[in-house]
Formats: sequence, structure tokens, C-alpha cells
Amino acid sequence: MRRNKLIQTTSCHADSVCCGCAACLNACPKQCLKMISNDDGFVHPSVDLTTCVDCGLCEKVCPVLYPFSETEPIITIAAINKDNEVRKKSSSGGFFYALAELVISRNGVVFGASFDEHWNVCIDHTDSIEGVKRFQGAKYVQAEIGNSYIQARTYLKEGRWVLFTGLPCQISGLKHFLNKDYEKLITAECVCHSVPSPKVWHSFLNSVSKGRSIKNINFRNKDKGWSNYSYQMVIFFKNGESFKSPSSSDYMQGMVRNLTVRPSCAKCTAKNGRSNADFSMGDYWGVWDLMPEMDDNKGTSIVIVFTKKALDLLSTLNIKVKHASLDEARKYNIGLDRPFPLHKNHKVFFRYLEKIPTKILLLKYLHETNEFKMFIHLILKLFKMFK
Ligand SMILES: Cc1cc2nc3c(=O)[nH]c(=O)nc-3n(C[C@H](O)[C@H](O)[C@H](O)COP(=O)(O)OP(=O)(O)OC[C@H]3O[C@@H](n4cnc5c(N)ncnc54)[C@H](O)[C@@H]3O)c2cc1C
Ligand code: SF4
Ligand code: SF4
Ligand code: SF4
Repeated sequence: MRRNKLIQTTSCHADSVCCGCAACLNACPKQCLKMISNDDGFVHPSVDLTTCVDCGLCEKVCPVLYPFSETEPIITIAAINKDNEVRKKSSSGGFFYALAELVISRNGVVFGASFDEHWNVCIDHTDSIEGVKRFQGAKYVQAEIGNSYIQARTYLKEGRWVLFTGLPCQISGLKHFLNKDYEKLITAECVCHSVPSPKVWHSFLNSVSKGRSIKNINFRNKDKGWSNYSYQMVIFFKNGESFKSPSSSDYMQGMVRNLTVRPSCAKCTAKNGRSNADFSMGDYWGVWDLMPEMDDNKGTSIVIVFTKKALDLLSTLNIKVKHASLDEARKYNIGLDRPFPLHKNHKVFFRYLEKIPTKILLLKYLHETNEFKMFIHLILKLFKMFK
């Protein structure tokens, strides 16, 4: 039997480039695809060949096999949500919330990333402003898509406004799946450096929780301000205790230095205007130098506007806006740039993930001092002795 480019074996033919967007799963008319985690915790499609009819739809919608070409931005702006309480709970300047508020006021549906009861990150949807609050704040872990693209299409077909937010590869996956424009669809991608493995996330979470039940998690605590690349993670436990990472934690460094991230991020086909999103929203790092009048240390968003629809919406949002230079912003924000190669220890990090506590692995590979090399060497030796 002929098999299309994507389904040549029981798993995706292009494991190292598959971004896990799940467009193939959403498109399959026979429901014969499942997203399965590999040893490193990254999901890939797996097919049940007994029910696959080789229709080729999964291949057609794959944004990695058929990436969009680059779109030129119309404008770039600095944006601040006018409500300071909203900004406090947002990672950057609260641009996402302003968009969500607009769509909810039009009786629309908002899709975004939230935690489930096991602290997995999943794309979910809501039509209430209370529900939108669960999507506020960046969660630096790859989210499960489930059948969100199908659900979004259902609402669009009913004639409702839909705001779909996610990482660029997820927006690209949605757009490939839909394969047509909908007037009432607004898409906003997060600027994306790369995304860490859910397995690393859970392993890190276990090592800091030490059996305590978690009440809430904030990756971007702003108690000490936002300016100058503040990335403080706070984990609140039900017993009243909390874990606070240093401003730039090893968990975040693992992402920024491409140690813990999905291999496909190094060959990303969706960032930098290639997802077909209406908006791209990120942290306006460097605003303190470039536009100090838009920096009050509470968070400023950088927003890249790609479509006329997005441009027309700007004046209806509850935000303060100023034009910005994307070229200047790029100098302060590596996530706005091209994809990056993986960390030289990426493979070995994942090889030891189940054997050595994540906190120690992160320390070893991010701070490769001689003392540390010796310390880890000793741990590995002990591990081998007792295995
Ligand atoms: C993995 C990841 C990497 C990022 N890398 C950069 C970067 O390098 N540079 C930069 O400037 N900005 C980056 N961002 C974006 C930034 O952290 C903020 O999310 C963005 O600026 C929006 O902030 P906000 O204040 O408008 O709203 P917030 O309330 O902070 O926005 C939340 C929005 O992010 C979405 N979201 C949160 N977590 C996830 C997730 N795991 N998967 C998909 N969508 C998610 C929600 O659905 C919602 O739309 C990244 C975000 C993520 C999730
Ligand atoms: S070829 Fe068709 S039936 Fe088979 S997995 Fe792909 S979409 Fe499903
Ligand atoms: S559609 Fe997405 S999940 Fe499916 S193979 Fe392509 S990149 Fe991977
Ligand atoms: S870098 Fe690209 S492939 Fe990786 S999560 Fe971001 S958008 Fe997806």
C-alpha cells in the first residue's frame, strides 16, 4: 500500500523536525492518529495502520512539510494594558488580556494555555472573562493541543468570534488545518525562543515540590519588578509554603540556552512571521533604554502587527500604544530572532534525565566549572556502583 510522506511507518517520518503541533491528528478523518510522548517527553504522532486509509490529509496539513512563507510586519508597537491589576498577572504588558477582553465582549471564544489538575499545560478554551484568567501568564512548557483546532473550527462555523493564542508552530498548525480564512478568527502567537520538554518540567517540579501539594504556579512573578529580564518563578504549596527561584533560574536558563528544548525548535519553520498569525506578542526587553517613557517596571509588551485585520483592531483595545522599531528590539530579545542550534549537551542531558535529579543536571550543563564536572563525575560513579 502507498503511504504518504508523513505516514511511512507507525510514527512521524520526521521525528527531529516534527514540532508536535497536532495538526495531523486534528485533520485525520479516521481518528487513527494519537500524540505519543517519546523518551524525552516530546509528543509525536503515531498512527494505527489498521484503520488508516492513506487519504493523505495528515500530510497536507503538516506545517513542517509545507511551511508558510515569511510575512512582512505592518508595524511594531510597544503596548501596556491600561489596567495595572491585569498587568501584574501578565508576563509582559498584558496585551493578550486586552485582546481576550475584546473577543469575550463580542460573545466570542478564547483559546489559550492553562494548567490542568496535574500541572500539565494544555490548550483549552472559554467564553467568559473569568475563564480567560487561567490563560494569563506564560507557562514555559510545551502545551498539549488535543482537538482544539477542531473545536475552534466548530465555533467559527457557528459564526462566533474566535481568538486563538499559542506558540507560532501551533498557530501555523491551526492555519494549515483550517486551510481557509475566517473573518471572525483572530490569531495571536507568543514570541517564541523555544519550548522545554514536559518531562523536564515535571521532573523539575517534583524535585522542588518534595511531595508537597501545589496550589498555584507563576513563572513570571513581578513582585520585584519586570525590567531587566526578570524571570522569577514562584510555586505556592497548599501547606502555605512556597518555592521562589532566583530572578534567572536554571529552569529558564535551560530553555534560553536550548538545553531542555524540543529538537525541532532548532529548525523552527513558524517563527519570524511564518505562522500567518495576526499578532505576535512578547516582552519588550530593552524598552528601558529604547523608550523609557513606556517602562514603569510593571511590564511592557512588544507587539508585531502582521495583518490589516489586526491593525484595525488596535484602536478598540484597552491599551496604551507607541510605535517601536523591531530591529532595535531584536538587539535585546533573542527570541525575536532566527532559530538557534541546540546546546552542545542537549543529547547527553536527556540521556541522564531519568537517572540524575534535574536540578543537578541543569547545574552541571549550565555551569560547567571544573569543580562541578568532578562532583557530577562522582555522582555518576556512585550511581553505576549501586545500579
Ligand atoms: C514557551 C514560550 C517561550 C517564549 N519566549 C519568548 C521570548 O523569547 N521572547 C519574548 O519576548 N517572549 C517570549 N514568550 C512570550 C511571553 O512570555 C509572553 O507570553 C507574551 O509576551 C504575552 O504576554 P502578555 O503580557 O501579553 O500576556 P500573558 O497573560 O502573559 O499571556 C499569556 C498568553 O500566552 C499563552 N501561553 C502561555 N503559555 C503558553 C504555552 N506553554 N504554550 C502556548 N501558549 C502559551 C496564553 O495562551 C496566552 O495567550 C514566550 C512564551 C512562551 C510560552
Ligand atoms: S493518511 Fe488519512 S487516515 Fe491515514 S493517518 Fe493520515 S489522515 Fe488519517
Ligand atoms: S502536523 Fe505537526 S505534529 Fe503532525 S507530523 Fe507535522 S509537525 Fe508533527
Ligand atoms: S521555536 Fe518554533 S517549533 Fe519551537 S516551540 Fe517555538 S514556534 Fe514551535
